[in-house]
Amino acid sequence: MRAVEGFTGSVGNTPLIYLKTLSEQTGCSILGKAEFQNPGGSIKDRAAVGIVLDAEKKGLIKPGGTVVEGTAGNTGIGLAHVCRAKGYKCVIFMPDTQSQEKIDLLRMLGAEVYPVPAVPYENPRNYNHQAKEYAQKLDNAIWTDQFDNTANAYAHYVTTGPEIWDQTEGRVDGFVCSTGTGGTLAGVGKYLKEKSDGKTQIWLADPPGSVLYTYVSSGGKLVERTGSSITEGIGQGRVTANLGTFIDGLDGALHVPDEQSIAMLYELLDTEGLYVGASTALNVVAAVELARKLGKGSRVVTVLCDGAYRYQSRLFSKRWLQSKGLFDAIPEHLRKYVVL
Ligand code: PMP
Repeated sequence: MRAVEGFTGSVGNTPLIYLKTLSEQTGCSILGKAEFQNPGGSIKDRAAVGIVLDAEKKGLIKPGGTVVEGTAGNTGIGLAHVCRAKGYKCVIFMPDTQSQEKIDLLRMLGAEVYPVPAVPYENPRNYNHQAKEYAQKLDNAIWTDQFDNTANAYAHYVTTGPEIWDQTEGRVDGFVCSTGTGGTLAGVGKYLKEKSDGKTQIWLADPPGSVLYTYVSSGGKLVERTGSSITEGIGQGRVTANLGTFIDGLDGALHVPDEQSIAMLYELLDTEGLYVGASTALNVVAAVELARKLGKGSRVVTVLCDGAYRYQSRLFSKRWLQSKGLFDAIPEHLRKYVVL
């Protein structure tokens, strides 16, 4: 019998997808790691499993305990699955700007959800601080602290990175992805840099409203957060501990406007049959840009973080897209997919 052990055993080992149309258009290999195939539906299943297993190993949580997190959604969904599978209680604090689909799903998975006003990290009422305080008041509870608990980046260093290296048979010219906690970029980036003796270029992709593009391209200038993006789960106002484990190893950063991300989201559906979320679309825009920088024949990998299912009431609604000024960014021949 060839079986894996429950939810935690079924996370990872996702396919690497050759994106045919974009590869042909660029004369490069554009490859996407299909993280939407994880059992909880996103890249964050890896961090959720990694963080909980690490806490168990350190004796920080015992049977019957409570797992508390501040999360924009996908980490919470991953944690809610892990908690059901392992018999823990799951409590999630999240900004009240997130999609209803994600809140509903968390509750269906048995998590207790507290949507709180979306205030900046500096404000003590920010969802992360509320999660921390809540966990501190309980016995046998952990605050998983996905932003600054480096068990997150480590999970990618020991799973996502090695998988990409194996799947490309050790030839990756570039890797690029956006960051929320920075766990994916730092963990994969560190692994690929080490294995390639520094040859693999590692780039960060940033949406509007995030400070990391400026931080990386100016050599460390931290600016005020301005602007916003439709991409959920990515963008940052600071260098988290996870990102900090690798930020000096980055080769550069790319800024991707929402107009390009939304057009790519529809392009991926039309040409590849991939129904992906906005952070994935942004990553693919960045992968194409990096491939063009690295030249014809280059092989660039990015991450297909999650599917569009969790955001479809927004991303496929004409009224919503118009309210964000993005409907016109969708090429005319692709507007037939805007059915809501
Ligand atoms: N895309 C989506 C949809 C996410 O939910 C997240 C995590 N918040 C990311 C990308 C970024 O991943 P990471 O936290 O590893 O930087």
